[in-house]
Amino acid sequence: MHFSKLSWYNNFTPDKWYVHNRRNYMNTFRKEEFNMKYVCSICGWIYDEEEGYPDGGIAPGTKWEDVPEDFVCPICSVGKDQFTQE
Ligand SMILES: [Zn+2]
Repeated sequence: MHFSKLSWYNNFTPDKWYVHNRRNYMNTFRKEEFNMKYVCSICGWIYDEEEGYPDGGIAPGTKWEDVPEDFVCPICSVGKDQFTQE
């Protein structure tokens, strides 16, 4: 484990570092400015873009508009159109 992690770092070229750092910067920016929560109008379950919904295969940081259209509320199974921005 330690060895494979080390080789991953050794394979990092300067342009990869640039992309890596830029992505970190963007994530910080997005977290501060654009993190949104959406609330199910039926049961009150909250989708938090920062946390995503890993149990449903939605990675943390996924914007609401990038959540699949067939997403349903894990509590009451209504679609995205029943969610409102908090
Ligand atoms: Zn619901």
